[in-house]
Order: sequence, then C-alpha cells, then structure tokens
Amino acid sequence: MQERHKDGTETPNLGDVPADEFRSAMHRVADLVCDYLEGVGEYPVLPSVRPGDVARSLPESAPEEPESLEAILADYKGLIEPNITHWNHPGFFAYFANTGSRPGILGETLAAALNVNAMLWKSGPAATELEERVCDWLRQLLELPPEFRGHINDTASMSTLLALAAARHRLSEYQIRECGMGGRSDIPALVVYANEQVHSSIDKAMIVLGLGHENLRRVDTDLAYRLDSRHLEALIREDLAAGHRPIAVVATVGTTSTTAIDPVEEIAQICRRHDLWLHVDAAYGGSAGICPELRAQMKGLESASSIVVNPHKWLFVPMDCSVLFVRDKEGFESTFSLLPEYLKTPENTAEAASRPTDLMNLGVQLGRRFRSLKLWMVMRAFGVSGLRARIREHCRLAQLFAGWVEADPRFELRAPVPFSLVCFRAVLGESGEEQDRLNEAILARVNAAGPVFLSHTQLEGRWVLRLSIGNLRTTEKHVVQAWDLIREAWESVAL
Ligand SMILES: *Cc1c(COP(=O)(O)O)cnc(C)c1O
Repeated sequence: MQERHKDGTETPNLGDVPADEFRSAMHRVADLVCDYLEGVGEYPVLPSVRPGDVARSLPESAPEEPESLEAILADYKGLIEPNITHWNHPGFFAYFANTGSRPGILGETLAAALNVNAMLWKSGPAATELEERVCDWLRQLLELPPEFRGHINDTASMSTLLALAAARHRLSEYQIRECGMGGRSDIPALVVYANEQVHSSIDKAMIVLGLGHENLRRVDTDLAYRLDSRHLEALIREDLAAGHRPIAVVATVGTTSTTAIDPVEEIAQICRRHDLWLHVDAAYGGSAGICPELRAQMKGLESASSIVVNPHKWLFVPMDCSVLFVRDKEGFESTFSLLPEYLKTPENTAEAASRPTDLMNLGVQLGRRFRSLKLWMVMRAFGVSGLRARIREHCRLAQLFAGWVEADPRFELRAPVPFSLVCFRAVLGESGEEQDRLNEAILARVNAAGPVFLSHTQLEGRWVLRLSIGNLRTTEKHVVQAWDLIREAWESVAL
C-alpha cells in the first residue's frame, strides 16, 4: 500500500490501513456478521473437513506484500466460515451449547477498537469500573451477599486455578508465596475434595499449583450424581488421621456430564467445621441462578468462599467471559498482588481507603481485555426479565425433550434434568458393550446428517448421549428435528 504525497512522490504507508478502506471493510464485516447469523442454520453444524484440510489450503508463509482487506475478507468467507464448527447454529446441542448474541458481538467489536488493557485503574478507568459494576449486577441476581466481589477472567479453568491458589495462600503458616513448596519436609500433602465427576479444570489446577493430581480426592456420588457429603466427611477424617492437610472442597452446581447439583449447603457446613475453602464451580449452572426458582435449587451458594459463573456459557455473552466471585477480596488480592515500579500510579500508591481496584492484582495475568463491555451490553439489551425468560425457555425445551425420551420405550433417561441438559440412551443390544457400540453408532449417524450436533459422556462406565440446549437461535422446531433424527438413527442401527 503506497501513500501519495503533495509533490507526487509515493512512499509505503507504514501506518494503519487507510481510514476509507477500513470503513468500507467494517461495513462489509457488518454484513458478513448479519448474514452469518441469519443464515447459519443452513450450514451443517459440523463442517465436512478432515484434519489437515484447512491447513493445506493456507499458504505456508506470510505474504511478503500487503493484501487488500477485500481479498482477505473474501478468503474468510470462502475458507474460514464454512470450515468452522458452528456454535452459533440452532442445531448445536453438544457439550454446553452457548450463544454469541448480537449485543455481545457489538461489545466485542467495540472492545477491539478501544484496545484498552485494563491492568490498572489508570490504564482503564471505565473498563475497571464497568467490570466491577456488571459483576455486582450479576451478584445481586444470584442473591449473593454484598461482600462478594466479582471480576472477569477468560475461562472457568482460570477462575478455579485462581480460587485454589487463594485457598493455598490462606495457609499462612507455610509461607508458600515466599518460600515455595519444593525441598520442604514441613508441608504435609495438601488435599482438595470434589465430586468424582468434577470438571478436569480442577485436576489441572492441582497439577499447576503443585498440589499434585493425587491429592484431589474424588468423592462418591448418590443416584443423581450429586456429591455424597457423608463420604466427603469420611474422606476428610481419613486424611486428617493420616497427617494430611485438607484445604478446600470444590462443589459443583451443574456438573459437566449431567448438570447434577451438589448439596452446597451440607458441604458448606463441613467446610466450616474443618475450616476449608469452599469453591463452587457453577460455570454452566450458575447462569440459571438468575431465575429465583432455579436459584432455589442451589441453596448454600451464599456460603461459598469463591464461585465461578461463565456468562459465555449460558448468559449469551460471546467467548470468553468467566466471572469469579470471591468473598474475601483482600485475602484474594494478597495471593497475587505485586507493584513493580513501572506500574506505580498516583492512584495505586494513595492511601488504602481511596485506592481503586487494579485488576492485575486479581490473578496471574497482567494484561486484561475489556470483557465487561459485552456483558454489560447483553444485560442491558435483554434486561433481567429477558435473560430469565430465555433461560426458562431453554429449560422448557429440555423438559419437553426429556418427556419424549421417557415416553418412548426405545430410549431411557439416564440422569435428572435440573437445567437444560438431557442425558439419555437408546435401549438396544444385549451386553453393556453392545449397548455402547449401538449408541455410539446412533450418535455418529445423527451428527453426520448435518442439521444437529450432539455429544456424549460416560455414566457408570456406559455410553450416554447428551442433548444440551443453550443457543438463542434454538427453537422447539429444532428440538423436534433432533428427536426425529435420533429416532431415525435408532431404526437404522437396530436393523
Ligand atoms: C465448562 C465447564 C468448565 C470449564 O470452563 P472453561 O471456561 O472452558 O474453562 C468448568 N467447570 C464446569 C462445571 C463446566 O461446565
């Protein structure tokens, strides 16, 4: 790209892309985004690509000369968009279905334009204060007491890692922050407890924090896959008798396999008795807590030390946005805070009482994206009543589907449906292995058809299909379509 000067000479343009070219490309992007969202249902949810197909169509090295935005956008449209798994598709029922909603997309776009790095209050006043305010809106909707303070991380995996780091830091007698854990004989095994179906992010946190994977105790569950608090108590006593040091319990509100809800209130009592940190992983289920009747299923949430809720899962905010609430913000900050000279400002060196939040003190990362902007826009554009109505509709659709499964002797429900995920299985085959194989075949057939995408899990060692409803574009029609495809697959597999 050349820049022409008054004297007629030209030099390379070493600034950004020219404003007029950008403006027309932004309009083109607006059209691409709007067309995509209106037409995404026409794509098969899963692209028909094999590993390596996309890579083969990409040049092996970066272009030496500048290319026009028009050409780049054309390649986006032809090469990227069709070869994506379409999470914004109404037939997306896999994992935990989510939504990049329209107001959320606006927030993402504007955040990119501001490109603010809200590491310090000084480096992002509105970003810092909006983050604190929208997290507080969410706190109120979840009926958490005012001492809870929320901030935004990329993912629940990071939020949980930070929470367990704070739980470890709370053991002040070991001075782990200063002295580390290596080469020490004075620190016993530090033990964390969780539902045997806990999310793998807890395992990862154990690994990363040097607590050790072996020191995550998997607590038995009841018939509804909820943590059995008597077994929890027994395990804690065993560990204490063995000279280990229990430090935290992770309760899950909405487990990943079945959305089971651990008995948080009972677990909180055990935590109080043994002085343990209680972290609640409500990455998916927490969003439902904005509906009072669903919040009623989460009694005890208010007793936690920390809670993670992912608005990017079921609150219609585009990836990524994970809110971590902590009860003791000061203690939490003391886990991570450092103030190097080059980050000192008049504000963060003022008296403690008048010091604003520097988000960098609330975790590992220094730099922070302006994630609260999209959460703010979604909450305002839908309103609390609109958010609740959408979550309730997803739960209604899940109940509807669960009812069809229950009424059909060829299928069976495999777990209760407290939210919008249905775990079910085809009743086919003689042995357990054969059942697994036939259910796997049904899933493969359903997913190959194009209009829908479901995933699976294992419960008690057996294959189970999962249908997760969480996309705003999903209507009853799409759920009917999924059920039709599943029954057709049953017929062809049973033959
Ligand atoms: C999805 C999920 C996670 C992980 O979420 P990320 O934000 O992708 O790290 C953790 N816990 C539960 C219960 C989940 O459902």
